[in-house]
Amino acid sequence: MLNTISFLESSLPQFLDDLAALVNVDCGTFTKRGVDFCGDWVNARGQQWGWDMEYFPVREFGNCHLARLRGNGAGKFLLLTHLDTVYPEGVAAERPLRAEGNKLIGPGVGDMKAGVLAAMYAMCALQAQGFDNFAELAIFFGCDEEIGSPTGKKFYLPLVEKADAALVLEGARANGNIVSARKGTGEYILRVRGQAAHAGVEPEKGANAILELAHQILALHNLNGIAPGVTVNAGIIGGGTRTNVVPDAAHVEIDVRAVDADGARIAHDAVMQLAAHTHVARTRVEIAGAFNFPPMAKTPAIAFMADLAQATARELGFEIHDQATGGASDANNVAATGVPVLDGLGPIGGSDHSPAEYVERDSIVPRTALLAGLIEKLCTRRAELLAFKNEK
Ligand SMILES: [Zn+2]
Repeated sequence: MLNTISFLESSLPQFLDDLAALVNVDCGTFTKRGVDFCGDWVNARGQQWGWDMEYFPVREFGNCHLARLRGNGAGKFLLLTHLDTVYPEGVAAERPLRAEGNKLIGPGVGDMKAGVLAAMYAMCALQAQGFDNFAELAIFFGCDEEIGSPTGKKFYLPLVEKADAALVLEGARANGNIVSARKGTGEYILRVRGQAAHAGVEPEKGANAILELAHQILALHNLNGIAPGVTVNAGIIGGGTRTNVVPDAAHVEIDVRAVDADGARIAHDAVMQLAAHTHVARTRVEIAGAFNFPPMAKTPAIAFMADLAQATARELGFEIHDQATGGASDANNVAATGVPVLDGLGPIGGSDHSPAEYVERDSIVPRTALLAGLIEKLCTRRAELLAFKNEK
């Protein structure tokens, strides 16, 4: 373990240069040129470090990449990262990576450039120590996680199916916690159709869609807690043209979250059933939507992985805890396959998706060492992991 720390400490200056190189380029999901710059960068570095590099061409978004390191053992472990960010073009020039005390601040620094590098340096540290008790370690570099990985997951889910477990490199929480459970997220839109009329001359001929929408929003919010952990949020509304017109159309966009598959099913059915009951005569309700990120519940196998991470942290001289979070990531898609997954394994940071996005500089070495140590433990205690894995 000590070798890993000293290796990573001596690599930190290069890590920080690499971080600046990847942060200071516009690589929002829709900026293919920038995401491809990052992809070509990891491809070149992977080849330089002697890894088998593969790339998945994508026309609409950036290309995806895969790094493989083969060993002489049995375990197959997949690390999941993404190269895209939420930031539009121009932000990298406006706010390049900068240091403020122990904070490194910049667009995508925590979500997820520091995680991308932590994955690469952890694999490099294991390699440098000659650790090869695995069949294959692989790192996948996705191109569109920030829009739900519609493209990336087509490439990584087949890899997940062949893996014993997956590790996702979203950042560790600001309090240092790693992530062992994530809510599933659903997006719905509820549309109301009514009948237009002159609000002054003959309002009785109209059917007010906004009024019906108001009733529906109250009914939506009554679904909060319909199953443990279910939340329902009316986030965006629209409707109406002019004050002197009875509105014939209105809509609301809805965020629904659930902690497990049962909750997701119960919430989905309850939302869809709202269309069956209207309050304003001659109005009609249509609802569309689904869970786009399935829930990631803390299974026994995930609890075992979290325990291994905590044991590794103790060996490195610090304490970590695992937690559930309401936000979604690629870990949700992995969890839905039944393959165990742990998340929040990147350096500590926070304020993602905002101008204040940061990582803690002094967390880079210990968290990358934690990742390397966790991989080592997963490889050596693979039999126990597989036993848990079969215990749904
Ligand atoms: Zn992310």
